[in-house]
Amino acid sequence: MSIPKHNIAKSPISLTFIIVGAGLGGVSAAIGLRLAGHRVLLLEAASELGEVGAGIQIPPPSIKVLNSMGVLSEVEADAIFPHDINIRRWDNGDLLSQQNLVPYTLNKYQGHYLHVHRADYHKALVNRAKEVGVEIYLGARVEDVDFEGSIVTTSDGRMFTGDVIVGYDGVKSRLRSLILGREDLAYDTGDLAYRALIDVEEMKKYPELKSLWSRPDINFWWGPRMHVVLYFLQGGKTCNVVVLSPDTLPSDVLVSDATKEELLDMFADWDPTLSTLFGLIHSTGKWRLQNSRELKSWTHETGNCIILGDASHATLPYLASGASQAVEDAAVLTGLFSRIEDRSQIHDLLELTESLRKWRSTQVVKGSTQCQQIYHMLDGAEQLERDAKMLTQPPQIGCPNRFADPVFQNFLWGYDAFEEAQRGWEEYKQGRKAKYMYENLYEDARL
Ligand SMILES: Cc1cc2nc3c(=O)[nH]c(=O)nc-3n(C[C@H](O)[C@H](O)[C@H](O)COP(=O)(O)OP(=O)(O)OC[C@H]3O[C@@H](n4cnc5c(N)ncnc54)[C@H](O)[C@@H]3O)c2cc1C
Repeated sequence: MSIPKHNIAKSPISLTFIIVGAGLGGVSAAIGLRLAGHRVLLLEAASELGEVGAGIQIPPPSIKVLNSMGVLSEVEADAIFPHDINIRRWDNGDLLSQQNLVPYTLNKYQGHYLHVHRADYHKALVNRAKEVGVEIYLGARVEDVDFEGSIVTTSDGRMFTGDVIVGYDGVKSRLRSLILGREDLAYDTGDLAYRALIDVEEMKKYPELKSLWSRPDINFWWGPRMHVVLYFLQGGKTCNVVVLSPDTLPSDVLVSDATKEELLDMFADWDPTLSTLFGLIHSTGKWRLQNSRELKSWTHETGNCIILGDASHATLPYLASGASQAVEDAAVLTGLFSRIEDRSQIHDLLELTESLRKWRSTQVVKGSTQCQQIYHMLDGAEQLERDAKMLTQPPQIGCPNRFADPVFQNFLWGYDAFEEAQRGWEEYKQGRKAKYMYENLYEDARL
């Protein structure tokens, strides 16, 4: 089984795109649009390109996009191919549910499931963007947009003019406020995330950790009000730990340093393996997790500006799919604008991008939020029922392990963004506006 590599054709006309924000989503869109023959100006507020944080999971739909954009081999160079997703009980680490990844996702969804360090992922994208001729401007914080004139102005007074403006400026998006004409802040989800990296050589000194490092799996521990995710990076040299727990940060603080002692205290009565593991942490930090509200529209009424990625659909990370949604957005935008025949179609194609993407990304936000209740159940009858369902029944619709629910899994991993763009374009040429929907996603779920 091979991974599809879609041809990104040069569009019949060449436009100038201004992309605001060089995160994983913005750089992906820049590569795609450039390959489609457009001029791309990529404006980034930071003075250096890079990604903060640690590991990231890349599911099959993004793998197909990366392959088509010519980035996959560099991303794979340092990646881990996890074998299974394991869901474990909080107090003793007993296995509750398992979803195979190797060879399952390649056979069923024509794509691997990868773990990489964010910095490596971003670097691979930036290298490709430079190679294909994306024009990158650093220290370019966009302050204002003249939608009529299609001009963006940065905080240091630079002005850039284009045919299309794409806001990929993240959860605190300036473009979102400018499109709406009012500030629309992301809201607190009640969760925060601790993130830490551990040297696997250190783990090898503890026999009780062998079952974790000797297989490159993803391990989850679900427990009351919190959960832990553990997976490996950088050829297996580094263990990535994420903890989601109730948000205790002061209201005006979004990010803070943290200590391993906090984690040891919080997890004192959990599976003892976790205390051994957390004892090896040298540095950690904690991030408030925020969602953005679903907007009525992602596009400006002038028809030359759209917001994508976290700017339009920031999500909790329970389904490990926020960046994947941003990359899928990039592929649909690319697929449509690789076919544009005339400038008069710009407005239609931005609306079509939204129509093909909005429902899907909204379901990912909704599904991730729903996971908060599933993973963090308090001890009691409901939690026992949840665990019994995973232990005694083969995965079926409504399975608490959303990665194993056959319907939800197919929705999440069985998507091909370039095929969607092609379908959207064909229907557009027949006078119809295509929309993406997936039937029965939640209707039959009995969680
Ligand atoms: C704990 C945690 C774990 C996660 N794990 C996963 C995972 O495993 N898999 C996954 O797919 N997703 C995951 N995500 C989600 C993922 O990190 C985000 O969805 C993704 O990074 C969003 O990409 P983006 O390009 O839309 O936005 P961002 O990455 O936020 O990029 C926005 C960029 O815009 C720039 N910018 C902001 N304002 C301006 C401005 N005014 N002018 C110019 N530039 C500007 C910023 O500096 C930044 O570079 C996780 C998130 C968290 C919090």
